Amino acid sequence: MATVEQHAEQQLEEAPNGVVKDDGGIPVENPATGEIVRTVPDLDADAVAQMAARARAAQPEWEAYGFDGRARVLSRAQKWLMDNAQRVTETIVSETGKTYEDASLAEIGYAGNAFGFWAKQGPVYLADEHVKSSQVLVKGKKLILRYRPLGLIGVIGPWNYPLTNSFGDCIPALMAGNSVILKPSEITPLTSLLLAEGLRECGLPENVLQIATGRGDTGAALIEHVDMIMFTGSTRTGRKVAEAAARRLIPASLELGGKDPMIVLADADLERAANFATYFSMQNAGQTCISIERVYVEEPVYDEFVAKVSAKVRALRVGSPGGGFGTVEVGAITFPPQMDIIKDHVDDAVQKGARVLTGGQQVPGPGRFYEPTVLVDVDHTMKIMTDETFGPTLPIMKVADAEEAVRLANESVYGLGSSVFTRDTARGEAIARRLHAGAANVNDAMINYTVLELPMGGAKASGLGSRHGAGGIRKYCSQQAIVVTRLAMKKELFMYPYKSRTSRMLAGLFKLLYGRGNRD
Ligand code: NDP
Repeated sequence: MATVEQHAEQQLEEAPNGVVKDDGGIPVENPATGEIVRTVPDLDADAVAQMAARARAAQPEWEAYGFDGRARVLSRAQKWLMDNAQRVTETIVSETGKTYEDASLAEIGYAGNAFGFWAKQGPVYLADEHVKSSQVLVKGKKLILRYRPLGLIGVIGPWNYPLTNSFGDCIPALMAGNSVILKPSEITPLTSLLLAEGLRECGLPENVLQIATGRGDTGAALIEHVDMIMFTGSTRTGRKVAEAAARRLIPASLELGGKDPMIVLADADLERAANFATYFSMQNAGQTCISIERVYVEEPVYDEFVAKVSAKVRALRVGSPGGGFGTVEVGAITFPPQMDIIKDHVDDAVQKGARVLTGGQQVPGPGRFYEPTVLVDVDHTMKIMTDETFGPTLPIMKVADAEEAVRLANESVYGLGSSVFTRDTARGEAIARRLHAGAANVNDAMINYTVLELPMGGAKASGLGSRHGAGGIRKYCSQQAIVVTRLAMKKELFMYPYKSRTSRMLAGLFKLLYGRGNRD
């Protein structure tokens, strides 16, 4: 009988003459054409348990590679990715329907950087820390904070960025010395399978990284076997994952949905602001957790801003990215039910008085596309201003001043990204600090995600924990405190038998050390 990996590899082989192999597994559709590209196995709980056993058996050898050995494999993987960029890009495009540019810039570019970053920074972030203490009784002792890999990490990912968001989180988990099982979205599993193949080629030991293809049940089964779960997806599923992790008392890091606001002040460079609003609402057809989902513009520049954005959005080409780079700006809606959500939000807004300046309709098939859409006369009674739309839509709202913009920006259950546009950067930074969001960009958007030195995570219902930065790899480890006592006496002062004189002396010492302040 074929192993899961062999089976998955077989499934990955090109079907001859376009004939689709279908063994009853999960069909993977190309959303830009409606064709079924391949099928992948739908793994049940037993298969996941077997994977977990193999992963645990493989982990100690991987940990023993040490930082240098693991960094070598990741560095080779970085080169492998660049050598195979075309193949990986095509795989991403085939299962998401996104444009080649969206696959190349936001996925290949991200992962290429991430392999090198974690190979170099992992050892820095996870190096033993020699700690100095203010505690008088430990003077002279060696105090070490050490990071130890947790063992087996489960990564569950969404469909919008199969390389960046599903596979990307595996890289620091592996660098830390863990085995990893990745459960990609059932909609977009092919990129993960291909990357696992690439890592094997680069010398990653067998079973250190496994791909558990399947649906939600497979993800739920995975949580039952791992030492930590890294989840990216919707807030709704994130809550279920958090509950399951809590039952097992394992840590969970949750990267969830967003409704990112953009604020445009009257003194902003309107051309730049309009370009950013257009690009970062429509890029990846709006299917980005940190895409600009709503805009608040100060009254004096509102009309000019709206005119600029409408013209830019109207000029965008939407459709199948099949021709490669430069074919279209806006690709497909990857996840079938997402189309219903987009239509519902636009319809709800129009019913409540919004005006559609451009777009507003599904594009007739083949393939699943929605017209790049700009809406005005919107307010917070409309879903398009409060719920995550995750589509190529941009609602723009007029505000009296910056205070109203900040209030409305913060009036959300979400708190992922945000941006402020103004020529007064000091004022922009002051406003950024008032936004309840995991990231705030001044005269920019989304750029924080590419800065792997900075934490990326959400406030409020947008998540718990973060990726990137020191915390983005330490979360895959347990902390161990090591205390080494050298030059030791036979007995410490505070030990038995208790003697009044010694105890009074110690109590006096505490008073001397900690009792000198006042109570003002
Ligand atoms: P979902 O929450 O629907 O799914 C995410 C993953 O969880 C999928 O692999 C899914 O499997 C799996 N899953 C479903 N049910 C369970 C369960 N009970 N237990 C464990 N796993 C389960 O999200 P989407 O795939 O629709 O992704 C879009 C969402 O992701 C958006 O809200 C977006 O904002 C968010 N996101 C957040 C990011 C961030 O960094 N904060 C980045 C990217 C996206 P299957 O697909 O097979 O059902």
